[in-house]
Amino acid sequence: MTKSAAIHSFEPPRRTLMGPGPSDIHPRVLAALARPIIGHLDPAFVEMMEELKSLLRLAFLTQNELTFPVSGPGSVGMETCFVNLVEPGDKVIVCVNGLFGTRMVDNVRRCRGEPIVIEDAWGEPVDPNKVEDALKHHPGVKVVAFVHAETSTGVVSDAKTLAEIAKRQGALTLVDAVTSLGGSELRVDDWGLDAVYSGSQKCLSCVPGLSPVTFSPLAVESVKKRKHPGQSWFMDLTLVLGYWSAGRRTYHHTAPINALYALHEALVLLAEEGVEQSWQRHRAMHERLKAGLERLGLDFLPAAPYRLPQLNAVRVPAGVDEAEVRRRLLTEYDLEIGAGMGQLAGKIWRIGLMGYGARTENVERCLSALAAVLGH
Ligand SMILES: *Cc1c(COP(=O)(O)O)cnc(C)c1O
Repeated sequence: MTKSAAIHSFEPPRRTLMGPGPSDIHPRVLAALARPIIGHLDPAFVEMMEELKSLLRLAFLTQNELTFPVSGPGSVGMETCFVNLVEPGDKVIVCVNGLFGTRMVDNVRRCRGEPIVIEDAWGEPVDPNKVEDALKHHPGVKVVAFVHAETSTGVVSDAKTLAEIAKRQGALTLVDAVTSLGGSELRVDDWGLDAVYSGSQKCLSCVPGLSPVTFSPLAVESVKKRKHPGQSWFMDLTLVLGYWSAGRRTYHHTAPINALYALHEALVLLAEEGVEQSWQRHRAMHERLKAGLERLGLDFLPAAPYRLPQLNAVRVPAGVDEAEVRRRLLTEYDLEIGAGMGQLAGKIWRIGLMGYGARTENVERCLSALAAVLGH
C-alpha cells in the first residue's frame, strides 16, 4: 500500500474577504455545511428545498413559481437563462458596460442568437435611451439582457427603467443580479424582470457554487413555446422542473446537498434581518467606507449616483503599485481586496462590502490597513 506521508489535511489561512466575492461567511452558515448529509430524495430534504424556494422568492421580491437555486456557480445561472430563452436566430439586445456584459454577448452567440450590442463606457451605467433606440431600429427583439450590478466596474444600472422600455416593445428582460441580490434594491415583480440569475457567494455570503434563478410566467411560457430543445441537457428547465417540484420529484442530478443547507441558512439570516434592512446596511457601510477613503485621498471610478454600495471601485492613485498594495494587505493584514479586470486592470481596486462582510469592523480594518500600506 502506498501512503502519502507529506500531505496532511488542508488548513486555510484566516482571511478577511473584501473583494468581489467570495465574501466572508457567517458562522451559522458554516455550521450548516457540517450537518449530516441525507439523501436528495429524502422527504426531509424535499421539505427543506420547498422552504429554500420560498426564501428565495422573498429575497428576489417575487411570486414567481419557478424560483430555485441552479446547481452551479453564477455563470451556470447565466447560461441557464440564455440556453432556455434564446433559440437560433433570436434577436437579443445585450447591454455591455463591463466584463459581465461581454460574457452575455458570448452566450447569445453560442446559442446561435443574433446579439445587438449596446455599449457604454466601463464605469458608466447602461444608457436607457440607447436601449430604446435599438428597440425601435430592430423590430422583433425577443430579449433585452443587461447586468444590474456590474461587479467589474462597481456600477448599478437602472433595471426598473430598462425593464419598462423592454416591456413596452414586447421584449423579455434577462438580468444578471449576481452582485445585487441581498445587497441593493432589486424588485423582480415590481420592476417586471423576466429571467434573473444570481450567485450564492456575493451578498448572500454563502459558499460559491449555487445560482439562484427566477423566471416570470412570461419567461416560462416562452421556454415552453421553444421550437427546438436547447443544446444543454443539464440546464434544460423543462427537465430540471420535475426535480425542483415537491409533488413530482424525480432524479435529475444529485443536488449539492450540504451547500443547499448553507444557502437555506444564509437566506434565513437574510429573512431575519429583512431584505430592505439588508440593503440599508450595505448602504450605511458604503457611506462609512467612502468617508474613510476620502480622508485617504482616494476617489471612486463611477459617479456618485451609480455607485454600488457592495462593490466599491476605487481609483489607484498615480505612482502607486496597486498589486504590491494588495499583496501587502493580504500577507501583512490577511485582508483580500480585488484588482481591476480587463481594461480596468491596474487602474482600480475593488473593495467588497458584501453580506456578512458589510460590517463596521470590516470597514475599519480595511481603512486602517490601507492607511498603513499607503503610508498615511
Ligand atoms: C461573480 C459574478 C458572476 C459570475 O459568478 P460565478 O459564481 O463566479 O460564476 C456573474 N456576474 C456578475 C455580475 C458577477 O459579479
